[in-house]
Order: sequence, then C-alpha cells, then structure tokens
Amino acid sequence: MENIASVILKSGKDQSVKRFHPWVFSGAIKKITGSVNEGDIVSVYSNKDEFLGLGHYQVGSIAVRIFSFEEKIPDQAFWKEKIKRAIEIRKNIGLINNIETNTFRLVNAEGDGMPGMIIDFYNGVAVTQMHSIGMYKIKDQIVEALKESLGDLLVAIYDKSSKTIPYKSDIIAEDKFLWGKSAPVEVLEYGLKFNVDWEQGQKTGFFIDQRENRRLVQEYSKGRDVLNMFCYTGGFSFFALKGGARMVHSVDSSAKAIDLTNENIRLNFPEKDQHEAFAADGFEFLKDIKGKYDLIILDPPAFAKHRDTLSRALQGYKRINTRAFEQIRPGGILFTFSCSQVVTKEKFREAVFSAAAISGRKVRILHQLTQPADHPVDIYHPEGEYLKGLVLYVE
Ligand code: SAH
Repeated sequence: MENIASVILKSGKDQSVKRFHPWVFSGAIKKITGSVNEGDIVSVYSNKDEFLGLGHYQVGSIAVRIFSFEEKIPDQAFWKEKIKRAIEIRKNIGLINNIETNTFRLVNAEGDGMPGMIIDFYNGVAVTQMHSIGMYKIKDQIVEALKESLGDLLVAIYDKSSKTIPYKSDIIAEDKFLWGKSAPVEVLEYGLKFNVDWEQGQKTGFFIDQRENRRLVQEYSKGRDVLNMFCYTGGFSFFALKGGARMVHSVDSSAKAIDLTNENIRLNFPEKDQHEAFAADGFEFLKDIKGKYDLIILDPPAFAKHRDTLSRALQGYKRINTRAFEQIRPGGILFTFSCSQVVTKEKFREAVFSAAAISGRKVRILHQLTQPADHPVDIYHPEGEYLKGLVLYVE
C-alpha cells in the first residue's frame, strides 16, 4: 500500500497472525521496507508476500499491534465503526442506561479490536488511557467517534495517558480533558455509590473489573467478619456490608486509598459502624490475623508486570495466601485474585494450591472467577484474560 512501510515476517513466523493474534513480536520480523516512525501505521506481510494485517508500529518487544486484518487504510469512519461496535456490545449486555450501574469499560483494548486503547465510562465521563503511540496519535479521531456515537450520554472526555504511553517515545502526553469538562463524579455500581477521581486515582480512577466479584462477596458476607486486603477505594467492603457482614476491615498501604474507602463508606452507610480501615503494609498485617476473620479478600496489585519478575511475583502470591489459609477461621471463605497478565491461570493456581498445602488445611474450590463481560477477551488473544480469581472454602 502507498505511503506506509511494510513489515515482512520471517518464514514460519506468520502463523499466529494468520490465526488473528494481534501482536507481532520484534523477533518475528525479517525486514521493514520504507521508513517507519513509532506510532505509524504499517502493513504486515508474510515472507511469501501475503497481506496479513494493518497495525501500529512501536519500538519494543511487541513491534506491531494489529487493529485490522483487512487491506484498507483506516479513516474516521473506520474508528467510528470500532467505537460503535464496542458500544453495541455494552448495550447488548445491559450496561448502557442501566439505572443500577453507570460505570463500565467501554473499550477493552485487544478485546475490542483496538490494541493499546482503554476507555472507561464513569456516569457520562469517558476516561481514555492509551498504551501505544499509535493510538495516542489518533486520539482526536477517537474523541469525534465517541461524541458521535454516545450523543447525550457523554458529558466529557478525559485523557490519562501520560504514564501509560511508552516512556521511550518522544511524545510528552499531558493528562487533560480532550472534550468538555467535569468535576469528579459519583458513580453507581449495583446501586452502591463511589466517588471517582480519574485525575488523582489509580488506573482510570476505579477498578471496574471487580464488579461481578464484589457482588459475589455480598452473597457470602452475611454474619461474617471480613478482611478486605488491598482495598483501594473499598469496593469489596461496601458489598460485604450490603450483604450483612458483622464486621469489615479494609487494609491498604496507601493512606489516600484509606481516605477514599472511608469517604465511600460514609456515602453508602452513614449509619453503620461495623467498618474500620487501616493504612498498613499487607504482608505485615497478614502476619497477625489468627482466627479473626471468616471471609478474606486478597486483591493485590499486579506483583509481576514483566516476565522477568514472574518468579518473585509467584512467591508473593504464595506468601500472602499461605498466611490467609493458616489463619482464617474454620469454615472460612477466601477470595483470592491475581491481575497480572504475565501470571497465567495455571501458575496462579499452583501458587495458591501450594500455599494451601503448606497450611495443611482442607480446601475446596467454590468458584473460579475472571473479569466481567465489559472486559471481553478476543478468543484469538487469550492473553487478554488477565484477571483470575478463586473462591475457596477452608475447612
Ligand atoms: N481491591 C481493589 C483494587 C486493589 S488494587 C478494588 O476492588 O478496587 C491494589 C491495591 O493494593 C492498591 O490500592 C495499592 O495501594 C495497594 N497496595 C500495594 N502494595 C501494597 C502493600 N504492600 N500492602 C498493602 N496494600 C498495598
């Protein structure tokens, strides 16, 4: 195609792209013809000159992120169609104009055919977070597509990419409103209220991906003493209180997170006094919880962001889970999670199961959890299934 560089793959390295996997690793590339800059659109060809796809080029181990397997240069209508389809899915799963829940993920990167692009929706405010230069460069087109497709549902668009676009690039991104303006909003998740601060908060402001799992905690909380470890804005704690927990303790190492948790508790349960939040290191706190709790939630940060830190991360999961198994009351329930993409479901299970074995407790799996439907996984990109959870019954 005219004016775009061609990325030609080594012989035998085209199989995954032919199966619609959207990533081209730098090691698979035989040569690049034409000049290419970070963020440019490139076309990908096999060694036999077969067209495979179009994607954004980036310096790094994932060299091309493919967004189309058709040979047509994307224009405004192309991106609008992508956004429209993403909205269509959220409509079909009942998340648009839902009176109980007005916060959800609108675009989930590869899961929505847009590698490098995350868009979360907070009661009218779309927060974009780009992980590739290519997507960052087309942000104006995305703004137009969002405005056209969401109409009156949209109040403002805020971009929070300054820390997520690759640091090696020479683009300096500033977090700011791309369209409209809004103060931090109050959102609803299954009828519970949360204050979301996309400017100061972690990620885009809220961990939307635990919505269904938080609701499951509600089902099991009646009469239980609950520990919500790594609580951030306190999500699991509110659902535990809603479910009738006897007592809930929320713990996070960040004092800011503890403030947010307390604020959100007051917002939802001004009358209740069964909740207490502690700013403390999780590893330390877990040392001394013998017999205190009969429902424990462990939702740690991604211990491993890269493959080279994997074994340390697995040790981390093993350590916190061992402490929970050893000290939870008999008949207790443990909700344990990993949100690291590089930690596979199997590896996570191994870590949790060996923790159970060390504790000597009898443990059964009640539920196997993952991310909710607004975080869809493209079946050709299984890496997109990053959230893994187990609900375990400890005798
Ligand atoms: N469960 C939360 C999301 C957790 S994110 C929710 O439902 O929204 C992980 C949290 O772990 C962050 O808030 C971070 O501040 C906290 N954290 C990171 N390291 C920690 C540590 N060593 N001890 C306690 N909390 C920690």
